[in-house]
Amino acid sequence: MGGGFTGLWAALLAAEESPGRDIVLLEASRIGEGASGRNGGFADPCVTHGLDNGLMHFPDEMAQLVKLGNRNFQEMLEALDRHAIDARYEGHGKLDVATEPYQVQGLREHVEVVEGFGGEAVWLDREQVRGELASPTYHGGIWVQSGGGGVLDPAMLCWGLQRTLERLSVRIFEGTSVERIARSGDVIELHTSGGRLRARKVLLATNAFRSPLRRMRPAVVPVWDYAFMSEPLSASQMAAIGWKNRQGVGDCGNRFHYYRLTDDDRILWGGYDAIYHYGSGLRKEHEQRPESLELLSRQFFKTFPQLAGLRFSHTWGGPIGTTTRFCMDTGSAFAGRVAWAIGYTGLGVVASRFGAQIGLDRLDHPDSSRLKLRLARRRAVPWPPEPLRYLAIQLTQWELARADRNGGRRGPWLRLLDRLGLGFNS
Ligand SMILES: Cc1cc2nc3c(=O)[nH]c(=O)nc-3n(C[C@H](O)[C@H](O)[C@H](O)COP(=O)(O)OP(=O)(O)OC[C@H]3O[C@@H](n4cnc5c(N)ncnc54)[C@H](O)[C@@H]3O)c2cc1C
Repeated sequence: MGGGFTGLWAALLAAEESPGRDIVLLEASRIGEGASGRNGGFADPCVTHGLDNGLMHFPDEMAQLVKLGNRNFQEMLEALDRHAIDARYEGHGKLDVATEPYQVQGLREHVEVVEGFGGEAVWLDREQVRGELASPTYHGGIWVQSGGGGVLDPAMLCWGLQRTLERLSVRIFEGTSVERIARSGDVIELHTSGGRLRARKVLLATNAFRSPLRRMRPAVVPVWDYAFMSEPLSASQMAAIGWKNRQGVGDCGNRFHYYRLTDDDRILWGGYDAIYHYGSGLRKEHEQRPESLELLSRQFFKTFPQLAGLRFSHTWGGPIGTTTRFCMDTGSAFAGRVAWAIGYTGLGVVASRFGAQIGLDRLDHPDSSRLKLRLARRRAVPWPPEPLRYLAIQLTQWELARADRNGGRRGPWLRLLDRLGLGFNS
């Protein structure tokens, strides 16, 4: 249940493994309406929201997680080929850029971390990085050429998966919200907006949205992230910024931007603000936030002054399902007949397929080696209840912004969270 990447991949993996199995996908709104249809499309093989975050939480199994993440990524690309899903994937790696001098050293050191896990990364000094992409704000960067994945069109991926599932006779019900779940003997009863459904096994893939299963709720908070899309760049505008290698780009502050080209040479630009509404608010009107979008626009033209006058055709926001450890939370209920996989924070385009696999393992393969991973065995530390939740998030955001202003120096609150392995991020 849940028609984002997690639910779509879970349905496809289950249908491929057991052709003829009766699989139903319930989606409250439309397929891809949640984060999956409105994200930046950065397809990073890492399943732990970056190597550094993975090392912080799962130091002993990071080598295995990187291997499994790479395999998951390869299998994802193979599935796209096998089912002729055109998700407009471009595998040019990722460019991480330092926009403040204090970020240079850490970024440089990151090359070793990438290479230590079998990736390939090259350090680019100020001139070299500007040679890749001409911004006067860059002080250096690294280009993760192997292990950094690429970019894809997330909505095309959702719709391609939807069509594939329909071809494989998976029944998809959009506009059908699951309100309540109950167990009756060996059967799980789903009380939905369209009536009652009985199932033997259920995977919940509701991510940032309020789950009908109470015990899942403290694991994630919805954090709103905003983005816009420019009109297509002309040949002379493209020439003015370079970007011939078309990498996805991220800058390095606590509050960072992500940006990439689309196949028709528009720029998608997003990030920076991460907005939490009291009570885990998720309302339609949160999808636009003029002050965040204006700030993003000012920052865009500071990064690319040579594109002055470029217009934006689309603006939007979306809820990121954020855990205190920045990566997935999985679990099961009702004697293993219900499982869930949620909370990939800002890196779920590829990790969601791995989450779907862990969710299916819980339902179908309880002896799977994936379930022995600490990532699967340990749940994310729950968010505190309100009003503490709101206060803790606001304080953390305030401290992150302060650290960005102070050359990256983290104050006592952030250092305490670091020690506890907790955090707040998009
Ligand atoms: C603006 C933005 C930018 C991002 N950029 C990137 C990026 O560049 N790279 C990256 O890797 N990740 C990115 N992410 C994160 C990534 O999009 C998510 O981690 C991923 O899409 C999660 O997929 P999902 O299927 O678990 O959740 P979702 O796509 O959120 O799907 C959950 C679905 O469940 C449905 N649902 C909820 N409740 C019910 C119910 N009761 N009954 C039935 N259905 C229900 C919802 O309608 C929704 O469709 C970004 C996210 C956002 C919002």
